[in-house]
Formats: sequence, C-alpha cells, structure tokens
Amino acid sequence: MDFEKIFLNNTELQFVWEILLRCLVMYILIIVFLRLSGKRGVRQLSIFEITIILSLGSAAGDPMFTEDIPILHAFLVLFSIIVLYRTTTYFMMKSKKIEQLLEGKPICIVEDGLLVTRDVKRELFSHDEFFAELRQQHVEHLGQVRVALLETNGSVSILFYDDDEIKYGLPLFPKAYTEIAYCKPDSKYACMHCGQIKHLQQIDEICSRCGEQHWTLAMKTKRI
Ligand SMILES: [Zn+2]
Repeated sequence: MDFEKIFLNNTELQFVWEILLRCLVMYILIIVFLRLSGKRGVRQLSIFEITIILSLGSAAGDPMFTEDIPILHAFLVLFSIIVLYRTTTYFMMKSKKIEQLLEGKPICIVEDGLLVTRDVKRELFSHDEFFAELRQQHVEHLGQVRVALLETNGSVSILFYDDDEIKYGLPLFPKAYTEIAYCKPDSKYACMHCGQIKHLQQIDEICSRCGEQHWTLAMKTKRI
C-alpha cells in the first residue's frame, strides 16, 4: 500500500494555493447562482447550507474512488469551505445588510387575505408552490390568512384570523380553485390571480386590483 500516494501524491505547494483559490471562486459562484435562481432554501436549508452540502459532497466523494486525487486535496477543499462558511456566517451575524444581500429577506405573500402580487412577480415565486405550502399547513382559502411570509429558508410563516374574523377568500385546493362558467349576482367571487373578492355582473369582469379576468367562487369556511 502506497500511503504517500493515497494522501499526498506529490502535491506541490503551488497547487495547494491553487486549490484554496479554486475553492474561494467556486464557493462564491455557487452562492451567486443559487441567489440568481430566485429560489429560496429547500426544506429548512438555507442557501448556505445547500452550498456547503454541494461543495463538501463532491470534495469528499472524488478521492474515494479516483486514483490520482490524493486525500490532501479533499482535505484542503473541506477545510477552506468550512472556513469560508464560518467567515460568511460571522459577517452575516454582524451586519444586517450583508445578511439581506446574501440570503434575501422574508417576503410578504399574503396580506389581509389577499395575495401581494408585486413581491411574487419580483421573486419569481410561483403561486402554485406557495399554494402547496399553505395547503400543507391546512389553509383552505386565503380569507383565513391575515399574513403569510415566505422566509429566506423557503418555509412559510402564517398568522391566521380568529374564527369570527374569517372573510371570503380565494380557495387553494384544486377542486374549488376552478374558473366559473356563469355568475350569480348574490354570490362572492375571488380573482384567481390576486385573491380580490367581488360581486360579479359578468364572468369576464376585469379585476380592479391586478387587471386579470379569471374568477372562481369564493369560500368562507372556518379552520378545523
Ligand atoms: Zn386580481
């Protein structure tokens, strides 16, 4: 067994520096691209934890089965990624500005039972994804929700109305979220794009809040 080859494989000092520089560049690249994707964290993992997993994963895996990558290289990568991570989190803790730049800030998706459309457009966040999150937290329609925030780690925080404050709202489950084919003057309808509630004279009325013209029957059920 050639331990010198497994651990070092004639690594020159110059290449050690090169690895450190490569790590720095790749670390920054991964974070920038994750931020550009507009995607929030995944399942409680922040963008940084995802970056760590991505970089540690490939660094740890390659030397396991590649003959000419010595363990020293993997060690250098793991070491510099951890140092970079600790440095970033340190500065994010110290400065609110850096934290917002790197992680974004929580965005308000629902306010007073209505979708906040300006933030949704800017953040490339689709209604479908958000509706799914709300459904998983047992929200049947937006009239039950006073405020819903999309946190930087991708999770959703919800404040509910009391039972007696619940208003008419946009349904979130597929069966109820269907466009109407006719309207009755005494029923309330919800704009399928922004959640605005309205009595309709005709089914293709334009929503005064967002300019769309697709309506569904509004709901007012209580939470169970
Ligand atoms: Zn609307």
